[in-house]
Amino acid sequence: LTSSQTSPGLHVVHIAAEMAPVAKVGGLGDVVAGLGKALQKKGHLVEIVIPKYDCMQYDLVRDLRALDVVLESYFDGRLFKSKVWVGTVEGLPVYFIEPLHPDRFFWRGQFYGERDDFKRFSFFSRAALELLLQSGKKPDIIHCHDWQTAFVAPLYWDLYAPKGLNSARICFTCHNFEYQGTAPASELGSCGLDVNQLNRPDRMQDNSSHDRINAVKGAVVFSNIVTTVSPTYAQEVRTAEGGHGLHSTLNFHSKKFIGILNGIDADAWNPATDAHLKVQYNANDLQGKAENKEDIRRNLGLSSAHIRRPLVGCITRLVPQKGVHLIRHAIYRTLELGGQFVLLGSSPVHHIQREFEGIANHFENHDHIRLILKYDDSLSHSIFAASDMFIIPSIFEPCGLTQMIAMRYGSIPIVRKTGGLNDSVFDVDDDTIPVQFRNGYSFLSADEWGVNGVLERAFDLYTSKPDSWQQLVEKVMNMDFSWDSSASQYEELYSKSVARARAAAHTQ
Ligand code: ADP
Repeated sequence: LTSSQTSPGLHVVHIAAEMAPVAKVGGLGDVVAGLGKALQKKGHLVEIVIPKYDCMQYDLVRDLRALDVVLESYFDGRLFKSKVWVGTVEGLPVYFIEPLHPDRFFWRGQFYGERDDFKRFSFFSRAALELLLQSGKKPDIIHCHDWQTAFVAPLYWDLYAPKGLNSARICFTCHNFEYQGTAPASELGSCGLDVNQLNRPDRMQDNSSHDRINAVKGAVVFSNIVTTVSPTYAQEVRTAEGGHGLHSTLNFHSKKFIGILNGIDADAWNPATDAHLKVQYNANDLQGKAENKEDIRRNLGLSSAHIRRPLVGCITRLVPQKGVHLIRHAIYRTLELGGQFVLLGSSPVHHIQREFEGIANHFENHDHIRLILKYDDSLSHSIFAASDMFIIPSIFEPCGLTQMIAMRYGSIPIVRKTGGLNDSVFDVDDDTIPVQFRNGYSFLSADEWGVNGVLERAFDLYTSKPDSWQQLVEKVMNMDFSWDSSASQYEELYSKSVARARAAAHTQ
C-alpha cells in the first residue's frame, strides 16, 4: 500500500456499501459516485472504499488489480485476512475489500437482505478503517453513509484515532432514516466496540429498545457532521411522526445536522447523449422525444393510435414508502382519464410483488397499460425519455432522484409534497412560488382524492393547452439539478469542520 499523494484540496474518503454504476441498489449508490465526481472536479482528492461483491458489474471497473498486501482486521476475538483490490470507476479511485472470512460475506449473489447483514457490514466498516490506517493515509474527511457504514464513526473515535489514524473529521450521511441497523447489544462487540460503554441512552442504545444498539444513532452521536439528503426531510425527521424513533437524538445534535438536496449525475442522465435512447434529443428538439415515445409504445405493445395520448411513467422500488397503493390507484385513474401508464419496478416485499404481478397479468395485452416488474437500467432511460408525466406519490421521500431525472428528460413530475420532492418540485398552479421555479405538480393528501386531483390538473393542461405544456417541458429540461451546487455545500461543511479542528489543535 502506498500513501496518497498530496493534493491542494481536501482528501476525502467515502466508505459506503454502494457505488453507482458498479454496485447500485438505490439512490445511495448514485450519491457516492455523483458527489465524489463533483468534488474531484473541484480539485479534491476523493477515494472510495466499498465491499468487493461477487454480483458487482466488473465490466465497469477499469484496471482492477489485487494489491499484494493482505489486510488483517479484528472481528469476533481474532484477526481475519482481507484481500484488497483497487480499480477506477468513472474516473474515481476505488478500493474493494474482499474478506477472506469463512462466511464469505460479500459472496452472496446480492448486496443486502442477508440474515447476517449486521455482521457483514460491521466487519466491512472496521476493515475499511484498518485499510486507511495500514496504508498510512491521512484523510481530512472520512464520509460514511447509512447504517451499513455508520459503525465507522464510533470505531474511528474509540479505536482508530488512538491508533494514529487521527487526521480526519467524520461526516455521516443518512439517506433514509427508515433503515437504522439495530441489533442485540452484544453483537456490537464483534467489531471490537465496547458494548458496556456504548449501550447507553446518550450513545448507541436504541431509543425504543434498551437491550438493542442502533448503528445510525451511533453515527449521529459520534460524527462531526451529520447530513441527510434534503432540507425538508431534515425537518421531518426531527418530528415524532417522521423521525423513526430518532427525532430526540437528532434534535439534541441539531447543531451539526443539516439537509442538503442531492444532485443527479448530469453526464449519465443526459437525453442529448444517452446511448440507451432510440433518438437523442434536447430542449430545442422535442421531435426526438416524440420518437422515443413512439418507440417504447411499439416495443411494449401499447397502442400508438393517438400521438397526443399522455404517457405516465413510474420507476421505483415497490415498497410502502413509495405509496404503492397510490401508484396502483394512479394506474386505474390514468386509464379513466384517457392516458397510458408504464410502470418499471420491483419489490423486495413478497406480497407487494405478488399483488403487482396480478395487476401486470390483468393488463398483459392491454393497449394502454404495461407493468414491467424487474430492475432494468437501460429500460429506465427509455421510459424517462418516452413519458410525458412521471408520478412519485411517496408517503415519505428523503430526496428522490427520479423527479430530477424525469425533468431532465422533459417528463413533468407529479409528486406528493414530502421530503426532497417538496424541495425540487414546485406546483405550476401555486401562486406563492415565483413563476420561474414552477416545474410540476404536487399534492398533499396521501389518498385517492389527492392523486385524482393532481392527475386531472396535469391532464387538463396537457390536452387543453398544448403550447403551455410544451413551454413547461422546455423549461424543466433547462433546469440545473447537477451536483455542482450540492457539492459546494458539502465542500463548505467539510472545510469549516477541518478548519475548526485545526484551530482547536493550535490552541491546545
Ligand atoms: P430510492 O433510493 O429510495 O430507491 P431514489 O429516487 O433516490 O429512490 O433512487 C432510485 C434510483 O433507482 C433511480 O436512479 C431510479 O431510476 C432507479 N430505479 C428504481 N427502480 C428501478 C428499476 N426497477 N429499474 C431501473 N432503475 C430503477
